[in-house]
Amino acid sequence: MAETPANFFTHLECSMTGERVANDRAHNLSPEGWPLLARYDLDAMKAAVDRDAIAARDAVAYPGFWKWRELLPVARDEDVVSLGEVDTPLIDTPATARAIGAMGRLIVKDEGRLPTGSFKARGLALAVAMAKAFGIDRMAMPTNGNAGAALSAYGARAGMETWSFCPEDTPEVNVREIAAQGGHVFRVNGLIHQCGKIVGDLKDEAGWFDVSTLKEPYRIEGKKTMGIELAGQLDWELPDAIVYPTGGGTGLIGMWKAFDEMERLGWIGSERPTMIAVQATGCAPIVKAYEAGAEHAEEWIDASTVAAGIRVPKAIGDFLILRAVRESGGFAIAVDDAHIERARRLCGDEDGLLLCPEGAATLAATEAAIADGRLEKDARIVLFNCGAGLKYPLPDRSRALDRTKPVSAAEVLNAAN
Ligand SMILES: *Cc1c(COP(=O)(O)O)cnc(C)c1O
Repeated sequence: MAETPANFFTHLECSMTGERVANDRAHNLSPEGWPLLARYDLDAMKAAVDRDAIAARDAVAYPGFWKWRELLPVARDEDVVSLGEVDTPLIDTPATARAIGAMGRLIVKDEGRLPTGSFKARGLALAVAMAKAFGIDRMAMPTNGNAGAALSAYGARAGMETWSFCPEDTPEVNVREIAAQGGHVFRVNGLIHQCGKIVGDLKDEAGWFDVSTLKEPYRIEGKKTMGIELAGQLDWELPDAIVYPTGGGTGLIGMWKAFDEMERLGWIGSERPTMIAVQATGCAPIVKAYEAGAEHAEEWIDASTVAAGIRVPKAIGDFLILRAVRESGGFAIAVDDAHIERARRLCGDEDGLLLCPEGAATLAATEAAIADGRLEKDARIVLFNCGAGLKYPLPDRSRALDRTKPVSAAEVLNAAN
């Protein structure tokens, strides 16, 4: 076993008031009811940690995001929970770029390669590891599918019991995947925030620790590793723009936090990418708040979109998403389901890369933002494909063929799909 990395996690901080909270036991929200953020002794870390040495760590001893242990809260090796994490690849999509009028690099960070097929693995691995460190063995959450899948898998791995509550129209494979990885799963006739209410109402009696998005401090620490990994893959030069499918916003907030931490560690300079938050027109509370100049978003009524992962009518970290977007000089933008479907097909047809609907939403948004001039044509753009395309229903573009009748090559060759 490799040497245990040093731990620099000092305390938690209320994201709204800055109040300091001790990190010696498990926490949900701050005393005032806001998300808590993990804080580190970055000066000590700067003196002790060599960026390039930890970036080059052995992938067997430190798989994927676990290589950044010094920047993470987990202190003891025995609390690390792993299912074979990987660095997710950066994939150039030149033909898609040409088709949407992008002249610079259009890069997809394909998070679908992670265990359980989505970037929820990053957040839940950290939440489960910290829960393990605090002796918790029963956890529950509301989920649009991928978070529950990651919770059940990492929870099973850590010997814990988990409960997931999904909207009843959550993609079928996600619901079944949760149960196939040792989790209890319920379909609820409501949306994710209504599932969240069930968890909140039952948790004391059921003895659950609530791992809802941003209602515990460590999922964001896992998600921030997207920003660290991305910087490392781009030789510590961040892209011009990051286009992020925004539900609860954990990833966007986490990456923004990581950029700040890395600058203070001297790993990167002060340049920041433009952060672009993408939502679906059928559920766009952050876009509405962004356009209204508001600090918080209002609950979106009758939320509906094919991009289940970003169907979040009310996000507790709304103000953190909006702050990051505004500080970065970015914007929030909504795209409709038809455009999402077109974008998914485009990238598959042109570059052979199957996106999930939420990933396709970032491509659709990029196309729209280049067209209306909000995004420079020659920018270096990173899109987040947050989940494996295969986890979602696909349109049937096959053609039937009757082998009992004569078939000509022309017929087959001319068949449009
Ligand atoms: C959870 C999820 C999102 C939204 O991620 P946040 O960081 O919570 O905003 C987007 N797409 C997919 C596929 C997801 O599972």
